[in-house]
Amino acid sequence: MRLYNIVDGRILKNKLLSETFKRKTISFYRYFILENPQEFRDQIYKDWAELNCFGRIYVAGEGINAQMSVPEHNFDSFLKTLGKHLIFENIPIKYAIEDNGKSFYKLIVKVRPKLVADGLNDGAFDVTNVGRHLNALEFHELVSSGEHVVVDMRNHYESEIGHFKNAICPEADTFREEIALVTEMLADKKDNKILLYCTGGIRCEKASAYLKHNGFSDVNQLHGGILEYARQIKQLNLESNFIGKNFVFDERMGESVNNEIISHCHQCGKPCDTHVNCANDSCHLLFIQCPECAEKYERCCSNNCRTIKNSTAEEKSVLKSSRSRQFGNSHTYRKSFLLAKKAIFADSENYSGQTV
Ligand SMILES: [Zn+2]
Ligand SMILES: [Zn+2]
Repeated sequence: MRLYNIVDGRILKNKLLSETFKRKTISFYRYFILENPQEFRDQIYKDWAELNCFGRIYVAGEGINAQMSVPEHNFDSFLKTLGKHLIFENIPIKYAIEDNGKSFYKLIVKVRPKLVADGLNDGAFDVTNVGRHLNALEFHELVSSGEHVVVDMRNHYESEIGHFKNAICPEADTFREEIALVTEMLADKKDNKILLYCTGGIRCEKASAYLKHNGFSDVNQLHGGILEYARQIKQLNLESNFIGKNFVFDERMGESVNNEIISHCHQCGKPCDTHVNCANDSCHLLFIQCPECAEKYERCCSNNCRTIKNSTAEEKSVLKSSRSRQFGNSHTYRKSFLLAKKAIFADSENYSGQTV
């Protein structure tokens, strides 16, 4: 059996769309010492491929981080495969709130040096000395009080479309940048109550340990992240302190938490929170685009990219942009974001929403 996938992406997408059964979209992570990450990776790939699971899963010597979809009729068998490994014992599994089951169309399991690229030297501080885990309700109440420092530990393209009320959302492109920036920005708040949050909670594990190591005395983090918060807020019927959309790294690009749109189309500036990748394959820039601009620019980020997209293979090789494929992690994204901001303030007649 092959332990990776070789079929063309478009074929796989069509196959997914024509499926007649339902899938559950789930996520989970755990920091756990794995002696042989490659062997573990091959075992779970084999098990989960057999059950027709899709997703993006990272395995490292320090644990696992998984976002995936499992066919409903295989869900019990899937849970049984977890029973084979100590790392999964009582692992909290988070279920997506907006779930059409079309979140992934193939299975990728990768071995990486670290679960999240944080640029930190783990040997230099105690990574197990993490902040206090707050459940969704505790976090909700502390944010409501408005008395504490709330920090979004995600990248700026994530917080742009949704974040907690009054949160500090640093303009960071990567988690590595984010940690450095937050430590610096909060330098005079070492005795304040700090409330950290991220998508599913994994980034706060490292960030909270690092802040404590740097002298912060009251570090707290949202257990299960925005995913769990959104689920519980719905269940408890509370008014959400998270406004907008939760960015997720799958085909859906985001799930709405309270139906408010807080971001803007990067091309015309009108309220919009739909992330897309530029349709010019040699650009693939991640940006926010409204349906009208998608039509006007043929799903491209610029006229230039539209020209390249519509050119022949020969012309393409000449025109080809040197930009590499990236997931928002680029200064070009920031440039398009700033252009959108400028367009909004310069053209306030056409604009009636909130400011960025
Ligand atoms: Zn637009
Ligand atoms: Zn482009």
